[in-house]
Amino acid sequence: MNIGLIAHDAKKELMVQFCIAYCGILSRHNLCATGTTGKLVSEATGLTIKRFLAGPQGGDQQLAALIGCEEIDLLLFFRDPLTPKPDEPNDMNLLRLCDSHNIPVATNIATGEVLIHGLERGDLDWRNILRTGGSF
Ligand code: PGA
Repeated sequence: MNIGLIAHDAKKELMVQFCIAYCGILSRHNLCATGTTGKLVSEATGLTIKRFLAGPQGGDQQLAALIGCEEIDLLLFFRDPLTPKPDEPNDMNLLRLCDSHNIPVATNIATGEVLIHGLERGDLDWRNILRTGGSF
């Protein structure tokens, strides 16, 4: 499966801890991330992650393009709901695209845990039937 990772600044440490905890599962999938999130997670876990640009420089839009092309099967997007961000519309666009394409998306760690266990159990295997593109 192709998994996208993105975390707002206040949630980056949480994303790192999550990826350390689930490193074994994540290592069996293709990972991509916005620039800073990907850098922090790969440094902490050793996981191979395709890194896009930093979010504010367009990394979130690179992720959005993959979602639109059915090339993301699961998005972990740990959001900070308390700090206003100038590129909030891009965040909303990511979520809108996930809804349009029925991509499982976790915006907090509690949902992330449910999805990662579901992924491991095979609950998302139906995505293999839908995917037309390859992996990134
Ligand atoms: P970043 O992007 O991982 O490059 O920081 C995420 C964001 O836009 O907050």
